[in-house]
Amino acid sequence: MSDASTSSVPRDDAVIEVKNLHKAYGSARVLKGIDLSAGRGDVVALIGSSGSGKSTLLRCLNLLETPSSGALRLLGESIPFRGEGEQRVPADRRQLRRLRARLGMVFQGFNLWPHMTLEANVMEGPIQVLKRSRAEARDEARALLERVGLHHLREAYPATLSGGQQQRGAIARALAMGPEALLFDEPTSALDPELVGEVLAVMRDLADEGRTMIIVTHEMAFAADVASRVVFLDQGEIAEQGPPERVFGAPSVQRLQRFLGSVSPSRGE
Ligand code: ADP
Ligand code: MG
Repeated sequence: MSDASTSSVPRDDAVIEVKNLHKAYGSARVLKGIDLSAGRGDVVALIGSSGSGKSTLLRCLNLLETPSSGALRLLGESIPFRGEGEQRVPADRRQLRRLRARLGMVFQGFNLWPHMTLEANVMEGPIQVLKRSRAEARDEARALLERVGLHHLREAYPATLSGGQQQRGAIARALAMGPEALLFDEPTSALDPELVGEVLAVMRDLADEGRTMIIVTHEMAFAADVASRVVFLDQGEIAEQGPPERVFGAPSVQRLQRFLGSVSPSRGE
């Protein structure tokens, strides 16, 4: 059964939009009616305690997970689903592949392919998926590695790089696909503290150039600084959202006040 028709009037400029999204694993209801949209150039920071459903939401947005119910639109296209419950899947596999290639994802762990140099990592998607020539992919990879400050390390293998360098490489690799939006899942939380800044600087640079981004992060100062909107997720629901000044400066719900009190005060400014 398709529920593509259940979505209400979509925002014309929404790159990503979900309505009343639910996700359950068996009897565990992880997401309970999420409405969220990111328009072109929006930077949405997704915050909340561990286990609140942030990663699940991000994975539903790029269809690494299939929502149990609710409507999803990506790049202006509704995603039809078929089947029920655990059997529910996107109905159109080709649409899925096509749209997924337009959404870049950067995870917490460093996901570079270990047997390839940094440059080869960045070239791989454009060659395999976008059918670019090697020469074209190499030029693009070098320009992107330059941009994230890793041009001099282009021949290095991931294992020889610091976590911060690997994460910047992962961002370059995502950018090489020319994504319409970038989704980040705690990209700095596995890093030694002294390496966090270099990754956030690259992300800030992307935000400044008007990229559409959804960022799960525990870096509250960073979220306050770059986000156009902050969304606080609590037990699978959006408990509060708004501009960073309001969410951080005048949180109205108690759950958010408690959460902000629990993260380090210097990061809560
Ligand atoms: P967060 O990223 O905010 O820490 P997650 O989205 O990872 O939260 O997890 C939210 C809840 O969903 C947790 O209770 C987690 O145990 C549960 N969960 C996540 N993925 C699965 C899964 N594949 N199967 C069962 N439960 C899951
Ligand atoms: Mg998570």
